[in-house]
Amino acid sequence: MQIQVYISATLRAFAERKAKVEIEGSTVREVLGRLQDEYPESKKALFEESGALRPFVSVFVNEAPIATDSEYDTALKETDKILLLPIIAGGAPTESVISDERRKEVSLDDAEIERFNKHLMLRDIGVKGQKRIKAAKVLIVGLGSLGSPVVQYLAAAGVGTIGIADFDEVSLGNLQSQVIHGTRDVHRPKTASAKDTIKAINPKIKIEAYNEKLESDNIANIIGEYDVVVDCTDNYKSRYLINDACVLLGKPVVFGAMYQFEGQVSVFDAKSGPCFRCQFPSPPPVGLVPTCSEGGVISPLPGLIGSIQANEVLKLIIGGGETLIGKLLVADTWNLHSSVLNIHKSENCPICGSNPTITEIEDFDYEDFCGLRQTEEETPVEVITAEELVARIERGDTITIVDVREPHERAIHRFPNAIVIPIGQLARRQKELDPDIDTVFICREGKRSILAINTLRDAGYKGPMYSLAGGIESAKNIIFSHEGAWL
Ligand SMILES: [Zn+2]
Repeated sequence: MQIQVYISATLRAFAERKAKVEIEGSTVREVLGRLQDEYPESKKALFEESGALRPFVSVFVNEAPIATDSEYDTALKETDKILLLPIIAGGAPTESVISDERRKEVSLDDAEIERFNKHLMLRDIGVKGQKRIKAAKVLIVGLGSLGSPVVQYLAAAGVGTIGIADFDEVSLGNLQSQVIHGTRDVHRPKTASAKDTIKAINPKIKIEAYNEKLESDNIANIIGEYDVVVDCTDNYKSRYLINDACVLLGKPVVFGAMYQFEGQVSVFDAKSGPCFRCQFPSPPPVGLVPTCSEGGVISPLPGLIGSIQANEVLKLIIGGGETLIGKLLVADTWNLHSSVLNIHKSENCPICGSNPTITEIEDFDYEDFCGLRQTEEETPVEVITAEELVARIERGDTITIVDVREPHERAIHRFPNAIVIPIGQLARRQKELDPDIDTVFICREGKRSILAINTLRDAGYKGPMYSLAGGIESAKNIIFSHEGAWL
């Protein structure tokens, strides 16, 4: 029996870039076993040596998650569909996060009654709902492409207090999808630009700007002030940190994530459903799954995903409708396919399960958990700077340069001296490298090149290996400064 297996965009590199494959099998276990045989690249990346899926990959059959080991052996029907979904990153009517006391403290003036007229005429919002929106305090973490629509729609909807957190400056490359910033904002702090946007929409909104990185020692103080937190970040460390702080403080998080043409939205509220850790117990190894900045994103996708996030925030405030608590919305805008998957609270969750091990954020090492710090027992990876690499190439040194980037990234900045080997193929193609010659690995940001070196070490390769520090991104001004000079 052929079973259709859908593969999330972030994992397609391990299945010959296919969105859907047909695999023979009568149970999920059989199908996953054959998937590894037919797509050997998936084996090392997605599966443990025991054959079990690695914890950052979830399996759904017809939109229901596989939660226990025995469910892998349940007989499949021909019409069943399997979905493999990684982290990139309910449904009962909800009670409002705003108490009646707080609602009664605010009033709407004539201008507000006119401004919010189209909310007031909705039976499910009305004056009570609009007062709740005005009384609400929402924190938006990350003022990039997802943060843009969230900021705009929550400001337009009349949220009374909006917190905005981002430590970054606007760059030219942001403008393709981060629509709250304009050309004139390049090099300004994102918080300053976002503040201008909010004020232009509604000058009465109270804005708290945090132009700083959220870390273990400041996050609880900041989040503690708010009713709802919107996670519009782009890295795993922030996502786990925000989740954990919100679980401990009892706040709901409206989560959004994207990759290329695909997006995800959920509401994590440990009081009534799963948290982010329940669904995604651990991040993928550094460099294995490309980030949004490495993978690219189509302009309108954040508009869609961020607007759904803003809509979820408003439902939590108004108290009504069906929220995405206990559900994960997955939308593929390229094939125009979307589904709402059921997700469950994990009894073993280290923060919201029955025996939590994380009780203080400051005691948990987020850098280490997300693989951002080299541990002492790991052999450090040697790096080479762009200047050194250029000098060696110009000197005519015999070196091998291996480009481990994706094809679409190589098309932007090509490195003609390099041979191309995707990370998934490195172990079996190590014969193409000469262990007597220095090999330099290059990627976009210098993370996947480190993963490449560790992968080859694990596979027994003994030759000298270097990672281009900071990748092409930090070296491009040096490497590509005289176009054609030596490339
Ligand atoms: Zn949990």
